[in-house]
Amino acid sequence: MATRKTVLITGAAGFLGSHLCDRFIKEDYKVIGMDNLITGDLRNIEHLFKLENFEFYNHDVSKFVYVPGELDYILHFASPASPIDYLKIPIQTLKVGSLGTHNLLGLARAKKARMLIASTSEVYGDPSVNPQPEEYWGNVNPVGPRGVYDEAKRFQEAITMAYHTFHGLETRIVRIFNTYGPRMRLNDGRVLPAFIGQALRGEPLTIFGDGSQTRSFCYVDDLVEGIYRLLHSDYAQPVNIGNPDEITIRQFGEEIIKLTGTDQKLISLPLPTDDPKQRRPDITKAKALLGWEPKVSRSEGLKITYEYFKSLPEKEILHKDFTYYNK
Ligand code: UDP
Repeated sequence: MATRKTVLITGAAGFLGSHLCDRFIKEDYKVIGMDNLITGDLRNIEHLFKLENFEFYNHDVSKFVYVPGELDYILHFASPASPIDYLKIPIQTLKVGSLGTHNLLGLARAKKARMLIASTSEVYGDPSVNPQPEEYWGNVNPVGPRGVYDEAKRFQEAITMAYHTFHGLETRIVRIFNTYGPRMRLNDGRVLPAFIGQALRGEPLTIFGDGSQTRSFCYVDDLVEGIYRLLHSDYAQPVNIGNPDEITIRQFGEEIIKLTGTDQKLISLPLPTDDPKQRRPDITKAKALLGWEPKVSRSEGLKITYEYFKSLPEKEILHKDFTYYNK
């Protein structure tokens, strides 16, 4: 009988981390989840606590990380990931991408584990080429409100590559584009939960700017499949994973109104500083290297996600402030 491989997943109680825990459990790994619960929520993984091949550590990876026993893989998914969060917790955002990554790379070296880091389309900043291929170096403002996230993630890629070339560590870098699905925080300020929350409360949908900026939304199951394949590939350079189906934010608002069967109005609010005008992944690499492409259409994915948000307790739907449940 083959021995079970062990994977450490940081940010395990978050949106993407919790879906990754589910996937690795399904593939019969031993999963060690880690999270400091600043933006994560234990309800996302509470169904796993009864399993003998799941363990959870409440720990901040910006501090020294200790895990007993063997580790085969580390997936570093701990980080705030919405512009509202960067504004509220900018220092933690910088630390988890920089100090946290350094600690985990050290752990990966000590355990001879393969490390995959969650990078982001934000490394491209407000891109001047569309779609964005991995070779594009980006257009990032280091001192703007998004700088704390963008630059932490750029540093994260740089230090990960340095551990790969200098120490020969096995590393993988996924650049994640906008992703959605069940377990997103309804109040994290991102456009999809914001619009669905507003529709459910009977409020107008808040379009920032004129709504001509574009995004390309990937359903979470597709993303997890791409990450799973990348981890098991032998490719150490960054790979974009996202859905290239690009849409303007105004069109997206109209889709949400149709989806929710409401007749809410769209209202305009000021465009946040450095808000990227366009974003769409070039997924040529992922297709060629991993045989991966997204399978779930936006209409299918949005239906599932809407059902999830509708099923939340009413108190949560009505509670629209950008606060954290765990504080
Ligand atoms: N946005 C919006 N209304 C909202 C929240 C966001 O129009 O209530 C816009 C935002 O300005 C951006 C896009 O939707 O252009 C996506 O924003 P999000 O915060 O989800 O993620 P980003 O891709 O900007 O990191």
